[in-house]
This record gives sequence, structure tokens and C-alpha cells, in this order.
Amino acid sequence: MSTMSERVLIVGGGIAGLASGLALARADAFVQILERAPALTEVGAGVQLGPNVTRILNAWGLLPAIQKVAFYPGNLCARNAKSGEILATLPLSNMAARYGAPYITIHRADLQNVLLEKVQALGVDVQCDSPVHELPTDLHKTTEAYVIADGVWSNLRQQLLGDGPPRMTGHLAYRALVAQADLPAHLRTQDVSVWMGPNVHVVQYPVRGGEWLNVVCLTEGQLQGISSQELQDWNLSKTPLDTRADLQSALKGTCAYLQSLIAACSNWRLWPLCDRPPMQSAAQHAQGSVALVGDAAHPMRPYLAQGAGMAIEDAAELGHQWTALANQDVGQRFAAFAHARWQRNARVQARAIRNGEIFHVTGPMQWARDVGLRTLGERLMDMPWLYGYERQ
Ligand SMILES: Cc1cc2nc3c(=O)[nH]c(=O)nc-3n(C[C@H](O)[C@H](O)[C@H](O)COP(=O)(O)OP(=O)(O)OC[C@H]3O[C@@H](n4cnc5c(N)ncnc54)[C@H](O)[C@@H]3O)c2cc1C
Repeated sequence: MSTMSERVLIVGGGIAGLASGLALARADAFVQILERAPALTEVGAGVQLGPNVTRILNAWGLLPAIQKVAFYPGNLCARNAKSGEILATLPLSNMAARYGAPYITIHRADLQNVLLEKVQALGVDVQCDSPVHELPTDLHKTTEAYVIADGVWSNLRQQLLGDGPPRMTGHLAYRALVAQADLPAHLRTQDVSVWMGPNVHVVQYPVRGGEWLNVVCLTEGQLQGISSQELQDWNLSKTPLDTRADLQSALKGTCAYLQSLIAACSNWRLWPLCDRPPMQSAAQHAQGSVALVGDAAHPMRPYLAQGAGMAIEDAAELGHQWTALANQDVGQRFAAFAHARWQRNARVQARAIRNGEIFHVTGPMQWARDVGLRTLGERLMDMPWLYGYERQ
């Protein structure tokens, strides 16, 4: 049995930190979560969660609470942004039959609340207003295990791995939420749609039981004169109206539906996207008694809609190894976690980059992409390796 105490300090109370806290508390670890923000507030917007993720949430007993706030979309539609044509449709309503768990869309804050309630019910101590600026220098002597879950800009990762800040992708995410009741009937939807155009794409889907529509427009470009602090803000905005004007110019030439949708949303927020190259080794996931999870470990582009999903898969693996290797020390448990996770995360990161390239192709490649989707659409969009994943 380990000589270390079973105490785990988790840095960061986002999806990765809360999910890890939940999984480790279920595995009987004594967990404390330290969050920098004064309160866990409603930041972010919608997220899609595939059956690979809802299967875990179900095993944790969370689906009843999730059901009250999530939405179950009917289809995933791939569309041409210029003509509006539906190129391919993947039915999502039968995901539960195919993969044993549903495909849902949910507001990030609703997911965070469900996780927080469960974590607190399990007795985890969640401390807000508690930034952690550095890891102890004598880590090998401390009696605590650390789980670093402080997001894409993780300082602790940079201290541990020495690999500098994340990279700018040159992609900008504009995000808006609009009440479906405020939209004209032809703009309301029950589906997830991805509209692809040259150097741009738009994703839309309902959240909050279907009452709100989450809209994200991804364009290419750099922001001038922006500080690194501003870069870390999820809600960067000149003014919502100026932001909408920038967006309208980026989407010039797209179909009438998209033009109307952009004009109908007024609370645009801008988020410059940063990521890191796909993971290259297990050592990037854990070293001794320190493990990295979620965006701190593998920040990815949102083009496979799996960043929060991989954070939840990480958490499930941590919990599993904590129990399975209960007679070994924390370093061995974290090493087993890292070994089990890094290639899966690298694959998802790489595929997300590739999806972004396919979504944004220009010239004759657009024609080839559209023909491919028209002929092989459902087979290309369904991904058993992703949605059918179960830990080995
Ligand atoms: C446009 C867009 C769309 C997306 N869509 C999807 C999707 O459809 N599906 C999906 O699965 N994922 C999606 N994602 C990705 C997903 O949002 C992220 O991967 C996920 O939220 C990362 O969670 P995290 O807990 O690792 O990091 P974060 O959510 O960034 O949380 C980190 C936490 O750590 C805290 N913190 C930071 N520094 C410190 C410190 N020093 N001390 C203490 N606390 C600290 C922060 O305040 C924060 O609460 C999308 C992302 C973007 C940009």
C-alpha cells in the first residue's frame, strides 16, 4: 500500500477539474479543488457531448440531472455555407441505440453546475478565490498528489514541462447565444448544423432544453494590438455591435440563411483560439505525483467538438487507475493513467486540426469535399473509433 496520503489537490474548477474531482472522490481519494476565480460563474457557451462522454456521465449517475438542462438534437447536418445545400446528414437521435449512450448539446455552465453539485455531494472541498501560482519545489517530498486542470494557459504546465505558452492558431471563434423564441421561425432548429465555406465555418445547435440557440462562427485572421491577458479572456469583445460588423464582413458571400442568423444575434463574443501540437508522449500527461488533465494537457481546436469530452475521459481514467492500482503509489497510478490516455488525446487533437482544414478548404478542393460528403457523408461523419471508445 502507498505510503503517501490519499490527498489530491486539483488546480482549476473547470470541466476537467470538477470531473477529475468527481472521479477521484468516487475512488475514495480525499480531494480538494482550488479555483482561481472568485466564483464558478457562467462562462463559455454550448458544448456537444458524444456518446463516448455521456456513457461516462451515465456511469457517474448524472444523466437524470443532465437530461433536465441538455438538448437531444435530431441530426448533424453538413452544409455548404455559400449555397446552403445540405451535403450530408448523420442521424443523432439513434446514437443511443448504436453506441449505448446519447448525443447531447448543453451549455457549459449547466454541465459545470451538474458536476459541481455531485462533487460537493461527494464531500469534495471546492475553494474559490484560490489561485495556485506554482508547484512546490520539493514535489518528491510532499504528501499530496497534484492534478493540474487550469486550462489552455496553464502556468503550472509550463513550470512542469518547460514547453512555453500555447500557440496562436490564427483562427477566431465568434460565439453568440440567442433565444429560439426571438428568432423568425425559419431560423429555429432542432439539429446541429456545420456550414462550411472558404476559410470560414459556422456551427449552430440548441442548448438549455432547446430554448436557446448556440451559434459559433470560425474565421481566420489575427487580432492586432491584443495583450496576452486579453488573449486568455473567453469573452473578448470590442462592442457586441462592432464584433457583429467584423463577422458580417468575414461571412460576405455566404447564403441568405447565414446572413439572417448573424444579423439576428446581438451578443457576439470573440475568442482567439490557441492550441498545442498533439501530445507526443505519456510524460506530457504525468510526472511523478503530478498529472495534467483537460486543456492544460492537450488543448485542441474545437473542430471535433471533443475538448470537454477528452477532459471527462481523462477524469474517468484517473478514477479507474486510482482504484485499480490502490496498492501502488501515486506515481505508478498516474503513470498508468498517462500511458492509457496520451495516444487517444493525440489522435483527437490531430483529427480536430484536420477537420478544420477540410471545413475551410478553398478553390477546387471545395468541390471535392462536397462530392465526398454527398456520396459518403454518413460514413465520414460517424466515427466508431471516437464515439464507441471504452477504456481498455
Ligand atoms: C469555440 C469552442 C467550442 C467548443 N466546443 C466544444 C464542444 O462542442 N464539445 C467539447 O467537448 N468541447 C468543446 N470545446 C472545448 C472545451 O470548452 C474545453 O476543452 C474545456 O472547457 C476545457 O476544460 P478545462 O477544465 O480543461 O479548462 P477550463 O475550462 O479553461 O478551466 C480551467 C479552470 O482553471 C482555473 N484556473 C486557471 N488558472 C488557475 C490557477 N493558477 N489556479 C487555480 N485555478 C486556475 C480557471 O479559472 C478555470 O476555471 C470548445 C471550445 C471552443 C473554444
